[in-house]
Amino acid sequence: MIAKNIAEIRRRMDAAAIAAGRDPREILLCAATKMNDAPRVRQAIAAGVDCCGENRVQELVAKSAEGAYEGAPVHFIGRLQTNKVKQVVGNVDLIQSVDRPALLECIEKEAAKKGIIQDILLEINIAGEESKAGFTEAEALEISDKMSNFSHCRLRGLMAIPPVSKKKGENCRFFSKILRLSVDIEAKKQHNIIMGILSMGMTDDFEDAIACGSTMIRIGTAIFGARDYDRK
Ligand SMILES: *Cc1c(COP(=O)(O)O)cnc(C)c1O
Repeated sequence: MIAKNIAEIRRRMDAAAIAAGRDPREILLCAATKMNDAPRVRQAIAAGVDCCGENRVQELVAKSAEGAYEGAPVHFIGRLQTNKVKQVVGNVDLIQSVDRPALLECIEKEAAKKGIIQDILLEINIAGEESKAGFTEAEALEISDKMSNFSHCRLRGLMAIPPVSKKKGENCRFFSKILRLSVDIEAKKQHNIIMGILSMGMTDDFEDAIACGSTMIRIGTAIFGARDYDRK
C-alpha cells in the first residue's frame, strides 16, 4: 500500500512539474512520518521517498535508535522546544521548523558546542495565522541579515504551512509569496545563506505548491493513510 501510494504521488508530482514547465527532478518528496512506526518508515524509504520528516523529538529519538531512517536523510519538521534542541542538532540533516529567534540562537549554541554546521530552514507564518508558529516575512528578512552571527547554522531555504485548503488554487498566493521572499533573501548574498529549498505543499495542496515553485513537498496522509490520533 505504501509503495503504491508513493508511486501515485510521484506520478502526480511529475505531472504537476511538467504542467508548470519545471523539471520533475527539482522537487523532492519528504515523507511526514509522524505516528508511523519504524517498519512503515522503512517501507516508505524502500519505495523511494527522498527524505523523512519527523515532528516529535521523542519519535525521532526512538525511531533513530531502531534504524528507521537508514538510507534516507531525516529532517525535523515540528515545533521544537529549546530544551530538546540538544537531541536534534547534529542528529538530523535539516531542521525545517526554525520558527523564532530564540530557537535559532539555541541551535547555534548547540551546533558550536558540537563543532558542526547545522542546515536549517526558516518557517514562515505566511498567512499570519494566530495559531501557527513562524516568522513574518519582515522578520525573516531581518533575521537573514543577521545570519553571519550564526556561523554554525546554514540557511538553506524556507518552510511554510499555509491554511488547510480544500479548494484547488486556494493557497497559490501564499506559495508565491514564499517564493518571492526566498528570492529576496537570496539576493542579499549573505555569508552562510545558500537558499534553494522551498518546503511547501502537503497532501491537500502539493500540486499547487509545485506550480508555485516548491522544491520539497511534505506528505503524510497520501503516503501512510489517515492518522489515528486516538491510537497510542
Ligand atoms: C503532518 C505534517 C505534514 C503532512 O501532512 P499531510 O496533510 O498528512 O500530508 C507536513 N508538514 C508538517 C509540518 C506536518 O506536521
